[in-house]
Amino acid sequence: MLRCSLCVHDERTAKIDIINGKPLCRECQIYLRHHPNRADVRKELEEIMAGVDKALVAYSGGKDSVVALYLAKEVYGIRKLEAVMIDHGLMAGEAIENARRIARHLNVPFTLLKYDYSDIFREALLKGQSPCRACSKRTMEKLRKYAAGKGYRYVITGHELPFGHHPYREMREGVVQIRLLSMMTEEERFGILEKLPFEFPELPGYTTNCLVLGPALERYWEKHGHSFEQRRIAALVRYGLMSREKAEEELRRPSVREEQRRLVFERLGLEEPFKRGRFTGR
Ligand SMILES: [Zn+2]
Repeated sequence: MLRCSLCVHDERTAKIDIINGKPLCRECQIYLRHHPNRADVRKELEEIMAGVDKALVAYSGGKDSVVALYLAKEVYGIRKLEAVMIDHGLMAGEAIENARRIARHLNVPFTLLKYDYSDIFREALLKGQSPCRACSKRTMEKLRKYAAGKGYRYVITGHELPFGHHPYREMREGVVQIRLLSMMTEEERFGILEKLPFEFPELPGYTTNCLVLGPALERYWEKHGHSFEQRRIAALVRYGLMSREKAEEELRRPSVREEQRRLVFERLGLEEPFKRGRFTGR
């Protein structure tokens, strides 16, 4: 099987061509033609941040949004900040406590909004699909509405720079999303986390807060034999933000604790297939 020589895609997850004797996926080919320049992206960010004195931080309690909150408060010194966390119903309890503790430590007001995303999670688990896109889309829309209602023009997030885009994005009703971690390496992120009272909950998948990701990855693995996070992680490797070794570790079949799997399935009313032993994992 061909593997991309630049990122971690292989023939299962991307189209791969041989270019100058080397296997390269289509996404890397585009990347090499339109190289995002780290300095330009950072400059664009600095320019927009210079005009921000009031913002909502989309705060999931995961490590990336914690880094975003730290930067907004300590590096950019934004005068009025609010850390808003959306609990989708299956957040790790430690992650919510962690989020609250760090917001208090940074002296930023913390708001927890509770919702029930069972519909998204149930469908993803039943169909063996990724819940991430639908979940994050709904969360961003709820945050946008909250921001518009409270007069915030800016929503700061811990998202990575998406393919070929700017570090900010116009949303509806004049709200602007700023991706404050654009082109920031894993190392830089960990350097900031070390300064904070951050305790990583041990969860499978590329998450430090979501209980659904592990079981959803397991289901996807059963069906497709690889992870649905391949594309996101391939982009991090391509941009030089994550090492290949770390990426390969992230993309291994997850090992989900029995109690986490049971909790998720029971909360979603999916205990029947679980009891039949279909989801016993490995
Ligand atoms: Zn590639």
